[in-house]
Amino acid sequence: MRYSEMHLPTGREIPSDAEVVSNQLMIRAGMIRKLTSGIYSYLPLGYRVIRKVEQIIREEMNKAGAQEVHLPMVQPAELWQESGRWNYYGKELLRFRDRNNRDYCLGPTHEEVITDLVRNDIKTYRQLPCNLYQIQTKFRDEVRPRFGVMRCREFGMKDAYSFDADEAGAEKSYQKMFTAYNNIFRRCGLQYRPVEADSGSIGGSFSHEFMVMAESGEDAIVFCEQCNYAANLEKAEIARPEKNAHREKDWLPMESIETPAVRTIEEVSSFLNVSSRQIVKTLIFNADGKPCAVLIRGDQEVNEIKVKNYLGAAELTLADDEIIMKATGAPRGFAGAVGIKVQVIADYSIMNLVNMVTGANKEDYHLKNVNIGRDFQVEFFADLRVSEPGDTCPRCIGAIKFVRGIEVGHVFKLGTKYSKAMKASYLDKDGKEKTMIMGCYGIGIGRTVAACIEQNFDQNGIIWPMPLAPYAVIVTPVNINEPDVMKASEDIYAELLACGVEVILDDRDERAGVKFKDADLIGIPLRIVVGPKNLAQGHVELKIRRTGKSSLYATGDVVTEVRKIITSELNEAS
Ligand code: ATP
Ligand code: MG
Repeated sequence: MRYSEMHLPTGREIPSDAEVVSNQLMIRAGMIRKLTSGIYSYLPLGYRVIRKVEQIIREEMNKAGAQEVHLPMVQPAELWQESGRWNYYGKELLRFRDRNNRDYCLGPTHEEVITDLVRNDIKTYRQLPCNLYQIQTKFRDEVRPRFGVMRCREFGMKDAYSFDADEAGAEKSYQKMFTAYNNIFRRCGLQYRPVEADSGSIGGSFSHEFMVMAESGEDAIVFCEQCNYAANLEKAEIARPEKNAHREKDWLPMESIETPAVRTIEEVSSFLNVSSRQIVKTLIFNADGKPCAVLIRGDQEVNEIKVKNYLGAAELTLADDEIIMKATGAPRGFAGAVGIKVQVIADYSIMNLVNMVTGANKEDYHLKNVNIGRDFQVEFFADLRVSEPGDTCPRCIGAIKFVRGIEVGHVFKLGTKYSKAMKASYLDKDGKEKTMIMGCYGIGIGRTVAACIEQNFDQNGIIWPMPLAPYAVIVTPVNINEPDVMKASEDIYAELLACGVEVILDDRDERAGVKFKDADLIGIPLRIVVGPKNLAQGHVELKIRRTGKSSLYATGDVVTEVRKIITSELNEAS
């Protein structure tokens, strides 16, 4: 493509509302434009990169035996009512009515639509397994759209859904997708890692997220250096500690102590001069309208996702003052397990504590020397806390480490959550009706592109890995008004085009410096600079964007060299 004819509006200014590098660079490189909050247009350069990601995804999905479909974005409420998600999904689901007053939503995901399709068309075990995928627009009315296309409201997703006759088949389908995802992200040239993950509002029993390692990532990842355990912090397990021998003999008599206006762990700790490790934090949650007390050691944090999953709650929030008063008989800051009138569950961290300090369920009072079994009962001990530095790996004895990542893909074992609710069944060999077992598999296309930039940039702009580069080469004549320079540039450009290389000819009447800056900003991996001095010796310069290294080649050899580099970089990723 000739630069002079391209719609490639680059800019030098850093947009003031773009918080992360990828968003800044995508705007500056003329890849995207914001229409309104969380809604973006892709310009030609940006869309080329999107198409590259989509192409890799298509090839790997097809190779894994999945078939491409295209489902509607507008979905009738009835299907969502059938699955039970119409009331459950919350405000992320954009709902609206048509002229006949029927309820609809814009698809944030397509489990309902695909399950409806499959239940109508698949009747017997002979038609299974079946894996259907699409690359399509999703709409999620995110609370806080940010980071450009990384967390937006309208975005492209590849979503796939597998249907199997039995558990073993479903496991096979999951593994196939797991392998396909590894191929996809490796081929995109990304540094990534699959991690165990929570299943969120999609539901299901088991899932992995594919994380691109980046400082700016919204997710914290826990991994073990000794074994291959890796998990999203939301999910990271903590091993159950050994139960100490009963230490009843150490129990001291419980005491009530006046602690005026002393509420937080820090305040209690300094007022009573005890370590926060000796204090029990009592958090009252509202789980689907039912209050529940969660106990944890004072120096640790409750993982609300674990609590929510443990209780099987659809919605979990910290209780408001009214509920706290009702449950404890005291204002916020004085809750404790002794005498409380709600369900009490506890994190493993307090299982072996003796003579604890807790709130007294009475304003301005705390209790000392509280002991489990004598002073209160715990319904269950469970892993309910957030993993932290110093914890050991739940699978081996290794030390865990923390890194940040961007979730680009997610694979779920759904089981029968949707097929049961929506009656997607088939007849088995014996003519018996059975429920299909499902899996679902998503990749955010725009987020993958943004994540790639987060891993590949410098102060001058984007540095595309070859597989996602919108163009592999830019040919830059330093002065278009010199006929020899222009002729050599045109020849090289034509030769590259003839070999099928994606190439830009920067034929703008601009200073060389401006052209170099733009080429660096848009991140083209290879630049061929045609200047009068080198050309007089029969040479052109080939510069590698990533390393900044440049070498001279005979004009007749440069195309061969460029093709060699492109082939080797594409092979390296595949
Ligand atoms: P997150 O936890 O980041 O909100 P999610 O768990 O809701 O993501 P999934 O339902 O698993 O996401 O969707 C599959 C993929 O779609 C994600 O892995 C991600 O790449 C992409 N995705 C999800 N939400 C967004 C969004 N708001 N903007 C861009 N891409 C998104
Ligand atoms: Mg997810």
